[in-house]
Order: sequence, then C-alpha cells, then structure tokens
Amino acid sequence: MDIITHFLVPYIILTILKSKNKLAGAFGGISLDFDFLIVWIGILFPEYFIFSHRGITHSFILGFITSLIFIYILSRKPVKRSIGYVIKRDINLEFNKSNAMTVGFIACFGALTHLVLDFLTSKGIPLLYPFTITRYSAEIYYYLDSITLAVGAVVLFIIYLKINWKYKKVAMAVFIVLLVSFGGIRGYEKFTILQTESVSFNGNYTEISAYPTSDMFVWNVVGTDFKNQQYHALEYNAIENRRQDIGTFKFITVQNGSYESAKNTIKIADNLPEVENFRWDAYFTCIDATSNSPQWNITYYDFLGSTWHMNNLTVIVP
Ligand SMILES: [Zn+2]
Repeated sequence: MDIITHFLVPYIILTILKSKNKLAGAFGGISLDFDFLIVWIGILFPEYFIFSHRGITHSFILGFITSLIFIYILSRKPVKRSIGYVIKRDINLEFNKSNAMTVGFIACFGALTHLVLDFLTSKGIPLLYPFTITRYSAEIYYYLDSITLAVGAVVLFIIYLKINWKYKKVAMAVFIVLLVSFGGIRGYEKFTILQTESVSFNGNYTEISAYPTSDMFVWNVVGTDFKNQQYHALEYNAIENRRQDIGTFKFITVQNGSYESAKNTIKIADNLPEVENFRWDAYFTCIDATSNSPQWNITYYDFLGSTWHMNNLTVIVP
C-alpha cells in the first residue's frame, strides 16, 4: 500500500473515535515504510536481506518498536519545528512522560493498521519475524493502486487545508468507502475464482491460488500439480470472463546432466544468500539446471515475476 493510505487509514479511524492523538496514529502508520533508510544494510550484506523494503520493520514486534522510535523522534521540538516550518502548520504531537502510554499505544495502533493493509497486499510481509522470515499475504490488493493513491492525495490535501471540518469529514468518508469497496470487489472476485476456476485446470492440479494484478478485474491464477511437479498459470479477466494461458512450468528442468546430480547442486545453491533472497521475494520459484561440465548453471525464475522484483537469477556452482 502507498504511504498516503498508511497515513489516512489510522487518521480517519482515530477521527471517528474522536481521539486527540490522530497524528500519533497517522505517523505510527507511515513509520514502517521509512525502512528505505536501512535498506543499505541489506545491499552491503546480502545475507541480511531482511533489511529491505517490507522487511524487518513489517513484523508485529519490530513494527511496534519502529513506530515508537519514529514518534519519539518526530515529537522532539527541533524536528517538530522543522517539519512544521516546511508544511506551514503546527504539528500537534507530544510524546512525554505524562502521555507516553496513551500516545505509544496509538502509535502502535497506527503500525498495526499498516501491517493489516500490507498483509492484504501482493506478496505480504514477514509478520512473525524474528521467529520466522516467512511472508504472510491475503493477496487481495495489488502493491499500489493508482486510483486509491490519487484520491488519497486529494483527501490529504483537503485535510491540510484550513476549511470547515465538515468538508474534511466528507473527504475522509469518500476515501474509506473507496478503499473498502475496492477491497470488497477484489475479495469477492478472489473468492469466486477459488470456488470455480479449478475447472479451467485439466489434470492433477490440486491446489489453485489467485494473485491480484494492477487491474482490479484481472487475476493471475496458478494451479499446482504435485504429481507431475509442475505449475500451470493463466490470466483471468473477471469482467470479460476470459482466460489467457501464461504457461506450464516444471518445478525443476534439468539439461545435460543427471537429475540426482542437479538436485544435489541445487541444494548447495539454495543456501546462497542471493538465492534465499530471490525465493523470499518470489511468488513461485522454478529452477532450470544446466550442466556445463564441470560446473552447473542454476537459474531460478518466477513466472509471475513483476517489475517490482527481478524475475530470474542465475548462479554458477562449480
Ligand atoms: Zn509497508
């Protein structure tokens, strides 16, 4: 989800609840995406790829800690004054001994809304880190939605203006209705696809999953055939009820060598940090193993790969 939505959702919920600390919630809401400040750690030390966008700060424990640190920094007088100067508004944000519990709780609430929204979005987030690095996702919304982003920007500007609160409330209501309806439409489509699409997959495809795309009505649907060790993917357009084949992809394809030897080499390659990172970023990881005696070229690829992440990686194993 975009940073404006992450600001608006807790801000609007806290407005409905008549909280005096709306900004603490909104800043807690955006704090997790300031992880771009620490991605250099993951770039310098590839084994720490959890230091990436939607990585370490996007878990319950570290998300709450991030929001508290963020609120603490923003509420320091010089920082607050500088931001206030830039945006030409007084920032009403206090975080001190007398209100630490309340404001801290609200900042964590903002972080929680962020985690929920990103959980609903493509590829998800490692909610239970540091216990597990696994990403969890409901795969309902796409990473970003241009309409939500554009409407959110207008709503944020209306909140910023010095105008009657009733107009601001209308703008906030429009935004929430839009966000919830888009989620409702996408959720309904996904539910329908999972109920009905198995008929589009002939053979032994026992597991069907669906992934949102930037078009609200277009889904990538993937069937998994464990018996024949392959995936089949198609693009489904819910409005036109049209299916377009993406292809069939073997879990592992071996060329010029024995399957056993390829499997042993893949085991070695799987432990490389760049491969672990690739698998972590991918929807599905298929492997092409080609023997170029005495070495193996192992190519990992994600057939649903998006522009947001690289969709293939080749490593050479001696
Ligand atoms: Zn995020």
